[in-house]
Amino acid sequence: MHPLAQLDHDYVWHPFTQMKDWLKSEPIVLIRGKKTRLWDTDNRAYLDANSSIWTNLHGHNHPAINRAIRRQLSRVSHTSALGFANEPASQLAEKLVSLSKIGNESVEKNIHLLTKVFFSDNGSTAMEVALKLAYEFTRRTLGPTASPHFLSVSGAYHGDTIGAVSLGHIDLFHSAYRGLLFPTEAAMAPYCYRCPHNRAEPERADARSYRNCQWECTQSVVKAFDEGRQKKRPISAFVYEPCMQGSAGMIAQPVGWLKRVAEVAQENKALLIADEVLTGFGRAGLMDDGASVLLASHKEGVQPDLVALAKGLTGGYLPLAATLTTQAIFDAFLGEYSDFKTFFHGHSYTANQLGAASALASLDILATSHGPEVRRRLESDLRTALLSLWDRPQVGDIRQVGAMVGIELVKDWRHRTPYDLSEKAGIRVTQAMARRGVLTRPIGNVVVLIPPFCTTRREVYRMVAALSEAIEEVLDGG
Ligand SMILES: *Cc1c(COP(=O)(O)O)cnc(C)c1O
Repeated sequence: MHPLAQLDHDYVWHPFTQMKDWLKSEPIVLIRGKKTRLWDTDNRAYLDANSSIWTNLHGHNHPAINRAIRRQLSRVSHTSALGFANEPASQLAEKLVSLSKIGNESVEKNIHLLTKVFFSDNGSTAMEVALKLAYEFTRRTLGPTASPHFLSVSGAYHGDTIGAVSLGHIDLFHSAYRGLLFPTEAAMAPYCYRCPHNRAEPERADARSYRNCQWECTQSVVKAFDEGRQKKRPISAFVYEPCMQGSAGMIAQPVGWLKRVAEVAQENKALLIADEVLTGFGRAGLMDDGASVLLASHKEGVQPDLVALAKGLTGGYLPLAATLTTQAIFDAFLGEYSDFKTFFHGHSYTANQLGAASALASLDILATSHGPEVRRRLESDLRTALLSLWDRPQVGDIRQVGAMVGIELVKDWRHRTPYDLSEKAGIRVTQAMARRGVLTRPIGNVVVLIPPFCTTRREVYRMVAALSEAIEEVLDGG
């Protein structure tokens, strides 16, 4: 075993990992990266097919991002946002606010813009901030006896801190901590492939038809709001991941779902909290007119009141996150010092300069004239390459939004029979992909492909070929 792998085995506890399994084999130790590629201690090259858990946007070791970080490094790496302002964080906040405008005048007229940015370190803390702001904003508008109540979506994942876990609905991750959580409501997820009401037919490849769809999933949102009113516990905020629910298993939302449920929430005067930790920064694709989008919510014409950004914010280089809010929410925390209306929340590394410098460089790359074109090509390469997978009987559904893909593996595509989680179908398939030089991580039986934007057509085909061969090797005949 390589000495670094040995050190890992001796001392490191990995996230979301059964360490008993981990300790059975030598881990891949990654020591170098360039664009889509990563190299291990044996100098073996791999393709980073999930952008290092959905973080990397423009490839590893990008010269412009490296330059920006080095430039900031030569000045100062970190000073506290408790008491002091700093250069790159101020510039980044301005940029995020200006990019968060929906760019559609008809919508813009009747919505409140996002005007303020609260920095933190990761997606969970960005959601925690949104949650606390929504909670306190509601109490300050309705009165201190109000008990704010949250609605999120079944299968939702909003992070691992206790507030974020309370908003989440993944039993496998969350049930152990139930005793620590506050109760939240769950609306039905628009999971067409396993919709109990209708039969979507992904098996018919491009003819993705939704038979007899009555939008029962949006009616479930209406019902939650109605019940909240009847029980005198109105829903104060609706929390959603736009376009694609990531950790739920790459659940792609049918076009129109978000627009419909956002309208219901707004009619009920609830705040909209968008968890764009995964979907922000163009990962969910371009607008129909080819415009580039910071927020996936804008693809459905929805302007949220609070937005959490993290993963891709720094281009995948450093841990930095941001919660964007409206002026109304910001104003609710204004007062004389002695009113103690201050938002009492913050982290030691809030608004870290290296992270902010990296984020500014990443946003510049995203805005370059060839950015949208490159991303459109990647999206269409993925779409074309993935068609070959339908031939595999173990491929039940292929869900793509922008440059994000989930491939759901099933025992029998005719009956959509899922593998039992204990069979580790997804884990075994991605391990076989790693042996073919392609790195990703499954969510249960769903294999995830979220390649960096710089992935070439050849690399897309290599990723899909590795997946196809891995399915054959691991799942054929069993
Ligand atoms: C990853 C993720 C989070 C949590 O972000 P961390 O940086 O891992 O804390 C929250 N929401 C969504 C949608 C995510 O994909």
